[in-house]
Amino acid sequence: MTYDFAIIGAGIVGLAAAREILRARPRSSIIIFEKERAIACHQTGHNSGVIHAGIYFAPGSLRARLCREGAAAAKAFCTEQGIKFETCGKLLVAANEGERIHMDALFERARQNGIEALRIDRAGLMRLEPNITGVGALGIPSMGILDYRMVASALPESQSRKEPRYSSAPKSLRFAKTPTPSSSRPRAAPSPGNGRRLARSDLRPGGR
Ligand SMILES: Cc1cc2nc3c(=O)[nH]c(=O)nc-3n(C[C@H](O)[C@H](O)[C@H](O)COP(=O)(O)OP(=O)(O)OC[C@H]3O[C@@H](n4cnc5c(N)ncnc54)[C@H](O)[C@@H]3O)c2cc1C
Repeated sequence: MTYDFAIIGAGIVGLAAAREILRARPRSSIIIFEKERAIACHQTGHNSGVIHAGIYFAPGSLRARLCREGAAAAKAFCTEQGIKFETCGKLLVAANEGERIHMDALFERARQNGIEALRIDRAGLMRLEPNITGVGALGIPSMGILDYRMVASALPESQSRKEPRYSSAPKSLRFAKTPTPSSSRPRAAPSPGNGRRLARSDLRPGGR
């Protein structure tokens, strides 16, 4: 069988990509290859579990927009799937007067990015978190924590119509070079090794 899409890597990016493809094209066939015996074994399953707000990104940039939209989408997905998450907020602490100047710049950046930020003085910081020593902080109420492994596990089941097929035998996969119409450079297409193309299109969110 030649699949419409082959996805190499069952981390959160590969699984979310499969979900979005099936939402956009419910009839398409997808195969996901994963070299481990389970999904989310690498970065997805070992990250800090923070729902970032995107405060550091340049205002108006694609990264700032995607981070803002992604945080909202992650919370909506967790709510829909009954996955626990906590919007506990985050404190960005200035340890000394020099860092307080950076706080002012970050406050302005948050405003430009449309992210709520609260200025907190030394006394306020002590009240909120007595175990932190600092001259002040920025509070970002929208930031939170969740378990991305749980999100990854829920992604395949969240597809209402058709689930992608999984394979955990990627060693049988070869990358055969084929020319693509849009580029003169040869492109490697996944193939089972007998010259047959496995999929018409492929995505490779294999992590770093
Ligand atoms: C220390 C750390 C902390 C982080 N903290 C946060 C955080 O708090 N919040 C946040 O939003 N983000 C955080 N991130 C970033 C986030 O974890 C990653 O952006 C995200 O998990 C990347 O997902 P992925 O699917 O691209 O990669 P991965 O989760 O690494 O998935 C890639 C998958 O591809 C598979 N693979 C690779 N090569 C092949 C192959 N040839 N054949 C088959 N399978 C293959 C791997 O086995 C793996 O399962 C953190 C990252 C790090 C490193």
